[in-house]
Amino acid sequence: MSDAPSPAPSGSPPRPATGCRPGTGAGARPGDRTAADGRPRVRRRTLLLGGAAVAGLGAAGAAWAAREELERLWWRMPGVALPRREGEVDHPGAHWVAASEANFRRADRPRDYLVDRVVIHVVQGGYDSALRAFRDPEHRAATHYVVREDGRIAQTVRELDVAFHAGNRAYNERSVGIEHAGWVDRPESFTMAMYRASAGLTAAICARYGMEPDRAHVIGHIEVPGADHTDPGPHWDWDRYLRMVRAAGRGR
Ligand SMILES: [Zn+2]
Repeated sequence: MSDAPSPAPSGSPPRPATGCRPGTGAGARPGDRTAADGRPRVRRRTLLLGGAAVAGLGAAGAAWAAREELERLWWRMPGVALPRREGEVDHPGAHWVAASEANFRRADRPRDYLVDRVVIHVVQGGYDSALRAFRDPEHRAATHYVVREDGRIAQTVRELDVAFHAGNRAYNERSVGIEHAGWVDRPESFTMAMYRASAGLTAAICARYGMEPDRAHVIGHIEVPGADHTDPGPHWDWDRYLRMVRAAGRGR
């Protein structure tokens, strides 16, 4: 997400260059739990079983375990979507701002796809413009997270889902994408608060999926094979960032 913003045709508002390339990861494939319109195919069964699970909430101890077990298994039935709780985030403190379902694909990572990369992006725009773009179904791209200059983190796609951000289907499936507000040619975009928040997030992701916090696993969008974007650009301080990621990992 670092291509220079292309000039907007006169008369139309400028489009923020937040988006990764469209069409990379979209589309149903065998095993997807969603219908062609992106909506879960079977809701009724989920609701029925959900009711059974809720009924067990009043009981103590073993009932909780049984509920967890049921929850773990029921969505494996054909056509049943993995249960999601509205507003749930993978990173404590992140603010949930849901992306349009057109901008990611529902999945069940890391069970169906191994997660072994974090991809670092820069928006070429502000935090709000990124969130706006990710909510737009026409945008056809989103990352899992967006980090603001003051360290605020929005989660826009759950980590278990495949967000369309890398411009490469295999890399979308294997990675967690983090957008950073700002511009690749404005080093002042990358504040300490942003580095600190992002490093804490990346450290947590590395811990979750057993990744080494190094440059083999934490990469820039520019390093994704076939990517024609150059972010995060020359002003992103990789040495400092990885030092902070490792420090945050030790502090966990
Ligand atoms: Zn990018």
